[in-house]
Amino acid sequence: MSVVDTAKALISYDTSGPPARELPLAKWIKDYLEDIGASTDLQVVEKDRANVIGKLGEGKGPGLLLSGHIDVVLSGDLSLWKVTTPFEGVVKNGRLYGRGACDMKGPDAAILEAVKALSKERLKRQLTLSFTAGEDTGGWYVTKAIEEGKVTKRDARIGIIPEPSMMEVIRAHKGGGSMKIMVYGKAAHSSRPELGINAINKASDLLQELRRLQRNLNEKPHPLLGPTTIECTLINGGFKANIIPDQCTLTLSTRLIPGHDKPAVSKGWLKEAINACKARDPEFKAEILSATASKPLDVPENSEVVRLLTKILKKQPTGAPYYTEAVSYTAAGIPTIICGPGNIDQAHTPDEYITLKQLDLGVKILKESIRQVCLI
Ligand SMILES: [Zn+2]
Repeated sequence: MSVVDTAKALISYDTSGPPARELPLAKWIKDYLEDIGASTDLQVVEKDRANVIGKLGEGKGPGLLLSGHIDVVLSGDLSLWKVTTPFEGVVKNGRLYGRGACDMKGPDAAILEAVKALSKERLKRQLTLSFTAGEDTGGWYVTKAIEEGKVTKRDARIGIIPEPSMMEVIRAHKGGGSMKIMVYGKAAHSSRPELGINAINKASDLLQELRRLQRNLNEKPHPLLGPTTIECTLINGGFKANIIPDQCTLTLSTRLIPGHDKPAVSKGWLKEAINACKARDPEFKAEILSATASKPLDVPENSEVVRLLTKILKKQPTGAPYYTEAVSYTAAGIPTIICGPGNIDQAHTPDEYITLKQLDLGVKILKESIRQVCLI
């Protein structure tokens, strides 16, 4: 089976969602891994949903982790798929088309192909393969694999996730977060606004304050990622056209650079913005309802995994705008970076594709990485 045939087989399983059903594909991968001599663990995490973990050279000391998710996003409007249907991989003009071709069943196939090619070699260090459910479709089951000890730092000392990066070495990406604020006013008939306090107007004052905060953040960018951003993405206020609104909620979406990932930090900024509004306007009243933040990825430039990939590819490391499972592995003591074939621009689109050239390059680089960590 070539890497293209393997990718086609992976694509043929409809693991799109939500709701996603990864179990049949996880079983197929389990069989594939057992055929090449790996010990396997099918971790059913929910009905019809499973991770599958494979190990070669188990117990030989921590080596390399290669990990990919096996779920894909929904197909969307089928009439926009012109080259093929989502779950039938087709090669045309040097590209493999199908849902997940680049994000990331093509890259998953590159892992399987690289491992198969080296499976007869004598491993000096353990090679761990992790195929996870729920990355794009809800669940984030990579955390179950880690929490239940299926993948630990005793298995692997470094990790690579070949999410599509055009084989760029991505050592950093932002964390994400969200905050919800309630701005209070006072209801009155809209013909007598002077008797009420318009919560939407007050929310608009707070948004102005947040734009000022953003301008300050823009002056302190991360070298690879740019600045932390705070955007109001949902607003909900008022309940009747002729009533001055007494409540307005704002939902903020934050993208956080390293150093800004503690919920207390972004919450602190928000408190300052609210206090600035209060200082100017005694009628201003607001309350923070919730604040969450998730960790960014920030694998040091001089770490083993960054040095390994930058040496093989002769490239400088870079950052990415999207969030990945690398954060979960890195937090578990396995510094993990993103480096994989295909272009993220093609992810989640109709007629999703990966070029065969990228796919072959992915196999080559993953093979070299296995060689340098587990064979030498
Ligand atoms: Zn992905």
